[in-house]
Amino acid sequence: MTFKASILTLYPDMFPGPLGASLAGRALERGDWELEARQIRDHATDRHRSVDDTPAGGGAGMVLRADVLARAIDATSPPEDPRPRLLMSPRGRPLTQSLVRDIGAGPGVVIVCGRFEGVDERVITGRGLTEVSIGDYILSGGEIAAMVLLDAVVRLIPGVMGNAESGALESFETGLLEHPHYTRPRSFEGQDIPPILASGDHARIDAWRREEAERLTRERRPDLWQAHTRTQPPADGPGKAENR
Ligand code: SAH
Repeated sequence: MTFKASILTLYPDMFPGPLGASLAGRALERGDWELEARQIRDHATDRHRSVDDTPAGGGAGMVLRADVLARAIDATSPPEDPRPRLLMSPRGRPLTQSLVRDIGAGPGVVIVCGRFEGVDERVITGRGLTEVSIGDYILSGGEIAAMVLLDAVVRLIPGVMGNAESGALESFETGLLEHPHYTRPRSFEGQDIPPILASGDHARIDAWRREEAERLTRERRPDLWQAHTRTQPPADGPGKAENR
């Protein structure tokens, strides 16, 4: 079964955009996943093909109409469609690697991209849209947010990334930020690659990487560190670093 993403947007020309390049793009060409971008405006019925209107109760901006959007959703995703229906929204559940994994394990996804002030609340409830946010800032539309979500999901599809293992140890998969990387040249502007990485001792290298990941997480993301230590008490207690 191929993972299929359907995007509802006022700017279908934005797709595949960056998703058409590199790993995701080659996988799309191979048919490892499918993408369709549908024009919400095709479901407008009035003479001006309008999709938005002024907010009830007054105030600035415009709101995407519930009726137009509901028709667009129904034409794309009938009630028996097993795919989750998402609405990109700054009010949504934060996008995390675990949500990315959940979505990637399913048959695909339907993503509504908001514009203006957002969408009429009744279509969110009426069509069972799950709101997902990519961070605490406001974009001008949901398209780039949808691309962020899809980029993260698509790279997990089997065969999309060259090396399956390189997915497993990355930042967040372990609850920790990733350790630092080095490659040639051995010496760069007076800085050498940490000698342990050239030792050939894989147990020590693994331990070093683990300590670096823990150090970076403690320093930069106390929130992640706290969650990590709550779920996983230190593997072999304090003093691990000194024992090597
Ligand atoms: N008035 C809204 C923001 C609307 S921004 C508010 O204050 O919450 C217009 C559209 O951009 C939204 O409908 C949503 O689809 C998208 N968008 C903006 N910021 C986003 C974010 N952080 N994550 C996901 N989608 C976002």
